[in-house]
Amino acid sequence: MTRLLLMGPPGAGKGTQAVRLSSMLSVPQVSTGDIFRTNVSEGTELGRTAQSYMDAGEYVPDEVTNEMVRDRLNADDARGGFLLDGYPRTLDQVRTLDEILAGQATALDAVLELAVDSEELIARLLKRARESGRTDDTEDVIRRRQEVYTEQTAPLLETYDKRGLLVRVDGMGEVDEVAERIAHALHERGIDSTAESV
Ligand code: ADP
Repeated sequence: MTRLLLMGPPGAGKGTQAVRLSSMLSVPQVSTGDIFRTNVSEGTELGRTAQSYMDAGEYVPDEVTNEMVRDRLNADDARGGFLLDGYPRTLDQVRTLDEILAGQATALDAVLELAVDSEELIARLLKRARESGRTDDTEDVIRRRQEVYTEQTAPLLETYDKRGLLVRVDGMGEVDEVAERIAHALHERGIDSTAESV
């Protein structure tokens, strides 16, 4: 029954680590970026709304994102725990998440921050841009996404730190190394892989 947030700037490696962590903890990974991208590629109304924001490197409006996450976290498979990747990114989203969890009479176990310095971030994203063809991976948009993160999302780390939930992990280096650090940091907080005691 683990409820975790994974936070960090674009390019920090949240998606990569989230896939491993969710299987390690046996909880579903809920990635708002992935859900938006699926909707864009399926041409849904949500996808059409999200696309213009995503392509500009801006956040999708809170009311749209919040409603989508509310539905997802109230689905059966997320009731027993989840790993949220890419949400919350604004103060309004923090409040909505608090409300959703209060409605389920539950709370977060920890907020994991992946820390990576900004030059490394831009280099990683430019490399991904060449390889993946994501429409929001052009240099201008990459820079805009970093700015938006710094302005709107980085301050939330302090909010969670004040609540005693923040676990900061160095995200530089090899994927396996970072995964090790995450597992270790979570273990220190009493959060271990699968077969957790009940
Ligand atoms: P990255 O971490 O590289 O920025 P994501 O895949 O997490 O990429 O998100 C891609 C885009 O989806 C964001 O730039 C934004 O437009 C939109 N998005 C994802 N999560 C949120 C959110 N919580 N609130 C608003 N927009 C979001």
